[in-house]
This record gives sequence, structure tokens and C-alpha cells, in this order.
Amino acid sequence: MNYYEKCINSFLSTVSSKMSALYLPVMFLSLIELLEDQYKFDVVYGEHIQVTNTRIKISYPLITSYFLSYLLRIRKEIPSIKMAPTKNRTHDDAFIEDQEGLLKDLTLPGQILYSSTFEQRGKIVLSRMRKSDNVFPVFERHCPILVCEKTHIEMDIAAVHALTSNSVLYARMGELICFQYLSRITYNYDLREKIEQYFIRGDSRVDFPNKAKSYVIDFQENRCYYCERVLDGSSSQSQARADHFIPWVFVKTSTLENLIYACNECNGTKLHRLPKLAYFNKLLHRNASNGDFISSYPELVPNWTERVERWVKNYHQASEQLSTGWGPL
Ligand SMILES: [Zn+2]
Repeated sequence: MNYYEKCINSFLSTVSSKMSALYLPVMFLSLIELLEDQYKFDVVYGEHIQVTNTRIKISYPLITSYFLSYLLRIRKEIPSIKMAPTKNRTHDDAFIEDQEGLLKDLTLPGQILYSSTFEQRGKIVLSRMRKSDNVFPVFERHCPILVCEKTHIEMDIAAVHALTSNSVLYARMGELICFQYLSRITYNYDLREKIEQYFIRGDSRVDFPNKAKSYVIDFQENRCYYCERVLDGSSSQSQARADHFIPWVFVKTSTLENLIYACNECNGTKLHRLPKLAYFNKLLHRNASNGDFISSYPELVPNWTERVERWVKNYHQASEQLSTGWGPL
């Protein structure tokens, strides 16, 4: 085990034993998510990321947008959740309190980063988060692989490698810590079940707007993407389930290029497995022949070819970490 892996492990054991709020594991999870989104760096986030052979610099607005997007997704799924049950309002409260409905549809980092809402309120959020008792310095204190500079956070490439090469495992651990913490602070069993659903089973993380939904259903002629059973809901097996083709546990994003509809049975047996290459090729074909629509949802990515190339790379990386070759029963 190298120095960086030791830091990550000791961070995870510290937060799981002493945690008093949710933001440390969520910061950890959003950092993994950010580093796994590398295929978007030059095309979407170029100005916010600088990568050299030895260091990576990430602007505060970018990492904040990932952090907030994670919190917003949790809150969207479990509205009654209390994020920071401390006496003082800390990081997210002022931003997330959504009195004007401005944040209703913002759940993805890119949407947050480039929204006018973030422009207006981002400075306040950032200054709160950078104060001594707030998110970044606290994270740095418990997990010294990340250094807080004045305008950005900085990491050694070896630290990035330590995080991303075991990201599936680390993400699961981070989610378990969130789940343990949240179930510790609530005796409401309905709420506990929702929390378990979100962090452990993870079925309902797909955010599928109607327009995208009807597009996917039409493309698949209302049949399961894998076994081609008609999705008419006449039995429990034939109910339609939105499915992350490359499992959520690996990609952590719900971009349309990775979303398909599967029947309840396929969705339930696939779980965290990676489907066979033939299914991936079918998805690439779908995405390539409908590039305009897919690339416009949910974030505008100008260089479509590059995005496809990186998506192929993603599939190969996932195949090194997940159980592969899944197909319907
Ligand atoms: Zn099926």
C-alpha cells in the first residue's frame, strides 16, 4: 500500500467512526465522481482543470459544483433529509434552500457550474465553504492527499491514480458511510428505507426527463434493450426500468448516452455487472446515429467524436474493475 492509499484508508476509517455531518463522505464521493469524468475535462471543463505530468489543479467552482450536485441529488431523492444537522448553518444550506425554485432542475455539475444561479450565489457559497471551519480545509485536514490553495485545490497525480484505480470500492465504502451515518440520526423507518434504497440498492438514481424517455422507448420499440421482451407492464418481469448500461457504481453520471430501458428481470439480474461487448456496440450505434439529440442532453458537449472515443475507453476501464460478459437469462 502506498502513501496515498494509506491516506484514503485512514480518511475513510476516521469519517466512519467520528463523523458529525454528511459533507466529508459526500466531498469524497464527489471528488471520485469528478475524477472519473475525465472525458469531459477538455471539452466542457477545460478552463477549470489543469493537468500536468505530476499535478492536477481543480478550480473551487468546479469541485463545488460536483459537491452540490451530489447533495442536490440526494435531497431530490429524499426531500426530508437533513444534510448538516449542526447548530450553525454550514456549507450547503443557503445554496440549496430553494425558495424560488431556481435549483429545481439543476442536479448535474455542469448545469450548476454554468447556471446563472451559481454565478449569482456561487461566490457566497464558495466563501462559506473555504472558511476555516468549512468543507475544503476540513476535508484537507482529514485527507491530506488534497491541498487547498487560494484559487484551486491541487492533487498529486499519484493521489489521483490511487483514488481512481480503486474507485468502485472506494465509492461503495463512501456510500456505506453515508448510509450508516444517516440511519444513525433518524428513527423514521420510512426515511431509513429511502436512504437504504438510495445508497445501498441505488435503483432510483436515474433522472430521466420525459423527452429523453420517449426517445429511448421509441428507439427500442418499447422492448427491453437486452432480452427484447415487450415492456407492457403486464407482469412484474415486463415492467420498464431505466438502466445505466455501464453500471452507476462505475460511472456515477446519468448522461443519456449511458441510459437505456430494460425489463425488471434483466435490470434485477444485471446489477453491477458489465453487459457483453455486443450490447455495447449496439449502444454505440444508437448514440452515433442520434448524436445530435444525445449530445444535447443533459449537457452540451461540442466535440461528439471525442466523447464517443472516451466513452469506449470508459467501457474498457469498467471491464477491468467489474464483472463482465453479462447477458440476459
Ligand atoms: Zn430483459
